[in-house]
Amino acid sequence: MTVYQNIPKLKNYIETAERIVILSHFNPDGDTIGASVAWYDYLQGLGKQAQIIAPNDFPQNLKWMKGSETVLIANQHPEQAEELIMSADLMICNDFQSFPRLDKLEEIAQKSKATKVLVDHHIGPDVEQFDLVFSTVDVSSTCELVFNLITRLSPESPVSTAVAEAIFTGIMTDTGSFSYSCNYKETFEVVAKLVGLGIDTCRIHREIYDTFSEDRLRLLGHCLTNRLTVLPEFSTAYMYLTKEDLRTYNYIPGDTEGIVNYALSIKNIEFAAFFTERENRVRISFRSKGAVDCNAFAKTHYDGGGHYNASGGNSFVSIQETIQNFEKLLPQIKKKQFSKP
Ligand code: 5GP
Ligand code: MN
Repeated sequence: MTVYQNIPKLKNYIETAERIVILSHFNPDGDTIGASVAWYDYLQGLGKQAQIIAPNDFPQNLKWMKGSETVLIANQHPEQAEELIMSADLMICNDFQSFPRLDKLEEIAQKSKATKVLVDHHIGPDVEQFDLVFSTVDVSSTCELVFNLITRLSPESPVSTAVAEAIFTGIMTDTGSFSYSCNYKETFEVVAKLVGLGIDTCRIHREIYDTFSEDRLRLLGHCLTNRLTVLPEFSTAYMYLTKEDLRTYNYIPGDTEGIVNYALSIKNIEFAAFFTERENRVRISFRSKGAVDCNAFAKTHYDGGGHYNASGGNSFVSIQETIQNFEKLLPQIKKKQFSKP
């Protein structure tokens, strides 16, 4: 059984669909937006009506992608988003394993009578909720999976530049520019094909990583200098940012992306956490090298999940309390998962 065995079914759903919605997850990243705009451009090429919907706004550094200007931001246009989801006959869900990742769209998406297709690479997809599931953890990203689906759905058609650029964006961002989750030869074969299609990978890298504001760089500096705690006895480092910090540095979506990785860049640090104080919650990112299971940790303690070495979750107590609680959990994982218990 392979992840691709149900492609004929998907082909049939696409051919018969008249109203397609393409959904990305809450706090969209390069992979979910890349996958969504790739589907959008591919479906447009087939003469299909499709609408991308994101639960909330996505980072500026993804807005150069063709098709990204059409994304409907649901928390800015809630009624329109609901109407589109409820009247859709096909829903393509990108880069999330279950509906709670849609935040306020969760219930509407569940209620919709649309045929629900999942395209994802996270651990533990909620297969019951979908009519068709394309899910494997053995790919770098959802974008890689989308490329494999599109090229199998339409083997005769050339892949457009817009699709190729979007796919490359998702692969590059989800692997931290090819530094993790990419030890698969197939990932590089896909990238080789994308380069063969004529995309400018250096330009895409610059669009994503060299277009931040001065404030964002200073926010990072503040975080590294004043908000970093290193706990060598637990091979752990964590950072946090308060609402006040975000205000001071004129935070915009995307500014905190990737900051957690700096904590993991310290020698002998195997587990990293990054806490961000939001309106009604503390958002947490976890990253690990080696044996610390971030997915299980986020799932067990923070109503979250993700991948083995990268996950996210939420806490609904104050940021101080959240951090205290986190420190209390470290002895437990030290026993089992750190390389030097
Ligand atoms: P990040 O720390 O970059 O926000 O997320 C890391 C990984 O964990 C991503 O693959 C993301 O999809 C997943 N993730 C982040 N937050 C959540 C969450 O609240 N729930 C679940 N299930 N996965 C999450
Ligand atoms: Mn992804």
